[in-house]
Amino acid sequence: MQPEPSFKAAAARALADPRLKIAIDRTTITAETKRGAALQDFPQFAAARERGTAIKDHVVAHLDHYLMEFERNALASGAKVHWASTAEEACAIVLDICRAAGARSVTRAKSMLGEEIGLPHALEAAGITRVETDLAEHIIQLAKEPPSHIVWPALHKTREQVAALFREAHGTTQDSEDVPAMVESARRQLRARFLDAEVGISGANFLIADSGAVCTVTNEGNAELTTTPPRVHIVTAGIEKLVPSLPHAFAMLRLLVRSATGADITQYTTFHCGPKREGDRDGPGEFHVVLVDNGRTRMLATGLRDMLRCIRCGACMNHCVVYRQIGGHAYGATYPGPMGAVLTPALEGVERARDLPHACTLNGRCQEVCPVGIPLPTLLRGWRDRSWREGLVPAGTRAGMRLFRFLAERPFLYRLATAMAVRGMRLFRRSGWIRRMPGAAGWTEHRDLPAPAGRTFMEQLRERGR
Ligand code: SF4
Repeated sequence: MQPEPSFKAAAARALADPRLKIAIDRTTITAETKRGAALQDFPQFAAARERGTAIKDHVVAHLDHYLMEFERNALASGAKVHWASTAEEACAIVLDICRAAGARSVTRAKSMLGEEIGLPHALEAAGITRVETDLAEHIIQLAKEPPSHIVWPALHKTREQVAALFREAHGTTQDSEDVPAMVESARRQLRARFLDAEVGISGANFLIADSGAVCTVTNEGNAELTTTPPRVHIVTAGIEKLVPSLPHAFAMLRLLVRSATGADITQYTTFHCGPKREGDRDGPGEFHVVLVDNGRTRMLATGLRDMLRCIRCGACMNHCVVYRQIGGHAYGATYPGPMGAVLTPALEGVERARDLPHACTLNGRCQEVCPVGIPLPTLLRGWRDRSWREGLVPAGTRAGMRLFRFLAERPFLYRLATAMAVRGMRLFRRSGWIRRMPGAAGWTEHRDLPAPAGRTFMEQLRERGR
């Protein structure tokens, strides 16, 4: 098996791909603009954000209570509730249900939790045909790639690349400028598969404790076609998806939709509550909810409680200067961008994800746009601190930091060192720019560095003071 490339190597590869940058810009710039416009029309955003934050904090503080309440009400509605501590347990539960249903083919509506627990691979390994029904998931299934964004999984693909994929897989001509025709082509491919599947698997945007209902939001209607025709519907959901009641779910929806897509409301907001009842014309005969922990309760105990507020809107990555340069795959994890850089070390261990908390400029934009006010930069600093304490920071960086500390604690030496550095840098100046300099290849390989003015800030300040 090929070892996974390091974050730096994967980021360098992404930076060298001009088509990727075009694809990322097309979606993230639109998302940023639409979110901005949506908030202009929603002056109550700040108050809604405060309320959303309070709702999620309350639920996280009383997680045991609301989990029990949800289970009780879901069971009363005829659902079967399963508990999974780990990703492996969650996949095993889903596979057991599929086998009991004699499933050879399952449809799946987009769910990041499903990706997190490795469900697509588990289904394939069990010989069960998996049909991704979300348009973007259909694209990346054809491309045999993982999602690169939590809301737009195929964000890294240009429409030209999608047209080429569809031409090959659908066996039809595709005009990359005619997006509606490409959507129609995917629709024709997927329609028949909805009716063939014995089991439909979806995620959950919210679990409503006082009714045992599960809320999903989509724009394509594929979740409804995934969950209604099959005999069995399985929901996989992280335990942090709970809200106390329907009004709380609506309060969260107002934040989620505007932050994710800039719309006031999604095309489909569906509440699933138990299996088909007597007299119902359609719906699944069995309704299963798999409640997945997979490290979430550990996050409660390790200073990452704030992260459990996340409603997976993707706004932090749309506004992240790093994500917008390299896209999602370079992070090498299910969750990319700022929220992924916080979540992945919690889910997979900081040793494995040690680079991710450093893939950030700490400019604070992610926290500013987060609809539930998650202090992402603070949490990232927490991971950096832990990496340092656990000796995971490379020796060169540690030596550099120690040298900086030594100088910073001695103002005279610090001033001397910076004055010498500034003068040294000027030796490499050509027409006001530094194009090459020993030790700075990481920067100058990709862009020129403005040459320093010649005097340090402190020197200039002293001069002005005089
Ligand atoms: S951290 Fe905030 S902005 Fe990022 S996905 Fe979660 S809720 Fe959205």
